Amino acid sequence: MTINKPRSRFAPSPTGEPHVGNMRTAIFTWLFCRHYGGEFILRIEDTDQARKQDGALESIINGLRWLGLDWDEGPETGGSHGPYFQSERLELYQNASNILIENNWAYKCYCTPEELTEMRQNQQKQKLPPQYDRRCRNADTSDKAAKNLPYVIRFKIPENIDTIVVDDLIRGRVEFQNTLLDDFVLLKSDGFPTYHLANVVDDHEMEISHVLRAEEWLSSTPKHLLLYKAFGYTPPAFAHLPMILGNDKSKLSKRHGATSILEYQTNGYLPDAMLNFLVLLGWSLDDKTEIFSLENLINVFTIERIGKSPSIFNTEKLNWMNSQYIKTSSDNYITSAITTILSDYCETNMIELETPITQDAITTVLDILKERIKTINPEEMWPVCNFFFETPEPNEQQRLLVKSKASLSSEIYEEAINTINSIDDFTEEKIEISLRKLLEKYECKPRDLFGTIRIAITGKEVSPPLFITFEILGKTRSIERMQRFTKYLSVAT
Ligand code: GLU
Repeated sequence: MTINKPRSRFAPSPTGEPHVGNMRTAIFTWLFCRHYGGEFILRIEDTDQARKQDGALESIINGLRWLGLDWDEGPETGGSHGPYFQSERLELYQNASNILIENNWAYKCYCTPEELTEMRQNQQKQKLPPQYDRRCRNADTSDKAAKNLPYVIRFKIPENIDTIVVDDLIRGRVEFQNTLLDDFVLLKSDGFPTYHLANVVDDHEMEISHVLRAEEWLSSTPKHLLLYKAFGYTPPAFAHLPMILGNDKSKLSKRHGATSILEYQTNGYLPDAMLNFLVLLGWSLDDKTEIFSLENLINVFTIERIGKSPSIFNTEKLNWMNSQYIKTSSDNYITSAITTILSDYCETNMIELETPITQDAITTVLDILKERIKTINPEEMWPVCNFFFETPEPNEQQRLLVKSKASLSSEIYEEAINTINSIDDFTEEKIEISLRKLLEKYECKPRDLFGTIRIAITGKEVSPPLFITFEILGKTRSIERMQRFTKYLSVAT
């Protein structure tokens, strides 16, 4: 396929939270434009006044920005084909529908909502497909026009065509029966266009060469092709992207978990990981490469490698991908992200800190965090590293547990403190060697000594690993904590 400087657009409707499926469309379209050195346009399809939601536009923009997708034309950026909000282009659609009426491709329909309901009910009774019965198409409606009654403008589906062929860049040739198409509405009685009219007018006016959109729009494409024909415009090339399903193979929805890209942002996913994960839903380079840098993606992304079959949104894979990005992300970036997240978390939860959460402190615990977390969600990170920031205080159960450690005595514990104190090169390895020697000397069970010390210095019975914890805490704080804990051992001697 030779493609030269394409112009392609992402055309979301501000009707709710930005769905990961829509963001995948944005990513594919953006990569396609960047790969071929074309232009990526953001157009807001806000003509459905009833479904428009406050804040939805901001969420879309935030979602795109978070993923690192920039647009060459669109809201905030501007451009020579604006305005980029369909609600600001109404005159254009009204003129376009008038032109279609003049050229006998459209007509005014005065049917009232009641009449349409009755029509549908009759069709249901007769087991006919619900369709507008075209009663205003040939009728003389001049009396209704004279009375200034409200009307919609409908498209006249031509009667001399059998099939409409969509030549899809992903699906190949797809045929549609013309007779099954309804005389669809172009302009509503409030003067607002329907999706079909506005979409076609704008894709033409904005000189869009390639339309990449979700598969659910494929059934609208024959209508769009007829509209292009009626206007005498050359249609863009179409690529309908495969569906995204949940793990039960039904269409991805809230039932399967978070569907808004912003939820993933707040739940601790990294934008690069999210983008990498989403790009693999329907596209692949080969059957093995999973991790792609953005630069590499721009280099290798082509429509040819988009598949037809649906993909499953596998959260476990996303978590794995995210953990890979956490492990390999630059320390600076991840440290400052974690510092902010954990400071906010502690403030919100009014957690009393022994050591403040600073970049330096987070750097100290960064390695153990990176190894263990899948997301930078505070709920997941805090239990891994809180020992460094909070003063550990054993709970009732831990106190009893410590007292039950039969092979441990205060004497051994005291010597452990002295041993720790005497280590100059305070590293994980040295600490382990020294403490193990002690076990041998006193024939103390590792579980008894190490289990107790772990509770003393971290307040936990399991993980983080003991010796690295010593190293992270440092000698002074470790000894302080061990000494403070001595009181809980007294009965065990
Ligand atoms: N406004 C439509 C949407 O929300 C755009 C469909 C298209 O790209 O043509 O997905």
